[in-house]
Amino acid sequence: MTVPNLESLRARFRGELIQPGDAAYEAARKVHNGMIDRRPALIARCTDVADVIAAVDHGRENRMLTAVRGGGHNAGGLSICDNGLVIDLSRMRGVHVDPAAREVRAEGGCLWGDVDHAAHAFGMATPSGTVSTTGVAGLTLGGGIGHLTRKYGLTIDNLLAVDVVLADGRFVTASEQEHPELFWAVRGGGGNFGVVTSFLFRLHPVKMVQAGPTFWPLEQTRQVMKAYREFIARAPEDVSGFMAFLTVPAVPLFPEALHGRKVCAIIWCSPGSADQFEAATKAMRSVGKPLLDHVGPMPFPALQGLFDPLLPAGLQWYWRADFVNELGDEAIAKHLEHASRLPAGLSQVHIYPINGAAHRVGAGDTAFAYRDATFALVIVGVDPDPTNAKTITKWCKDYFDALHPYSAGGAYVNFMMEEGQERVQAAFRDNYTRLAAVKKQYDPTNFFRVNQNIRPA
Ligand SMILES: Cc1cc2nc3c(=O)[nH]c(=O)nc-3n(C[C@H](O)[C@H](O)[C@H](O)COP(=O)(O)OP(=O)(O)OC[C@H]3O[C@@H](n4cnc5c(N)ncnc54)[C@H](O)[C@@H]3O)c2cc1C
Repeated sequence: MTVPNLESLRARFRGELIQPGDAAYEAARKVHNGMIDRRPALIARCTDVADVIAAVDHGRENRMLTAVRGGGHNAGGLSICDNGLVIDLSRMRGVHVDPAAREVRAEGGCLWGDVDHAAHAFGMATPSGTVSTTGVAGLTLGGGIGHLTRKYGLTIDNLLAVDVVLADGRFVTASEQEHPELFWAVRGGGGNFGVVTSFLFRLHPVKMVQAGPTFWPLEQTRQVMKAYREFIARAPEDVSGFMAFLTVPAVPLFPEALHGRKVCAIIWCSPGSADQFEAATKAMRSVGKPLLDHVGPMPFPALQGLFDPLLPAGLQWYWRADFVNELGDEAIAKHLEHASRLPAGLSQVHIYPINGAAHRVGAGDTAFAYRDATFALVIVGVDPDPTNAKTITKWCKDYFDALHPYSAGGAYVNFMMEEGQERVQAAFRDNYTRLAAVKKQYDPTNFFRVNQNIRPA
């Protein structure tokens, strides 16, 4: 694994260049998913845009397979590669809030916790995901689904501009006004088009939220899911709640009597007032006989960080996903059957509502193609013990196979493993052809191919 012309890169690079044998190498090659074990020839940990340009030039000129790392959360491990170059942005985590303009600029290596923290000081937030350690870059480039989606849209619906280093080393800004096709493509098309060194987002007045879980016994799944599908179709956009199946973790946050119990749940978040939340959700939260209903006011960043301690880096992860239009009775029966086999521990299933504001953007307006889907389903096998990797993977695949016939056909790219070209095309539907044309324009040699790859037309 010798790196060609390393000295010429060293001469124009300010960050760290980490190779096998260096003290920092073992930690630097780890990503969030402990199942991923790849050994790059060089990790170029950039400090600024100039470093990113130098690294892209080096990868291209020396024909190195090149991966780009933001937060490192991609479960398929698409931010790291064997024997190639990793352009690592984890030191580029600057955030700048402009409270008067209601905008935030985040560098390409930021985690969502960085942005939430900075914006919260001004009583604002932008829609992101549900876990604060997730990278801004990967989540945004795939679309961005989270607690604020119903109210304020996907993360990309709040993206105003990106700075990008292209495959040929050029630096451009893309927005509605400049490089509009590139701007269209990065809103959902993933890291296919260049290294995004900064993101500019619109902010909204979100400070305190009403949040927390309602848990029901798994046996009440049918009743709860049927009520939920009616509820979420009509719920005010101020209110969001995603459905989940999980095993109650043995942590002080939950009563001891529930520890280890498999439940059907809704995890709530509403940026509205407590009274509005109560009025909108009372009937749903009273369906059947809940085991726990623990909702109250909390700062938005506290909600975003709530589950971080349960999901540290290094766990085994295997997930599969699909978009879903309807939760029909047959699908609900399959959910109950497979959720009953939830492996012990941290494995879970999430069904995120993506109606509301996200539906008001057209399927062709951004690269994110499933604007008509009501839910994003993700089945997540998680376990700290590598010897359980096979068990969680099999449970996840069986669950997915049973539910796929009831899906809209494709998945959210950020919830996919490496599943082949057919699944990539299914994820982009009618937008794939246009994405392939943009790819041809901005990355004709497919230099950026460690991703859910769009091949140049
Ligand atoms: C615990 C956990 C919770 C999650 N919760 C949510 C959620 O609530 N909502 C949601 O939408 N998703 C969620 N995700 C999925 C998440 O969006 C994806 O895993 C995403 O790929 C993570 O982005 P990252 O920057 O951390 O990933 P990375 O692994 O660093 O990168 C992912 C992909 O993006 C590319 N990339 C990274 N940085 C850049 C850049 N600066 N420029 C160009 N390309 C780049 C990489 O090459 C790679 O292909 C979650 C994931 C985990 C593990």
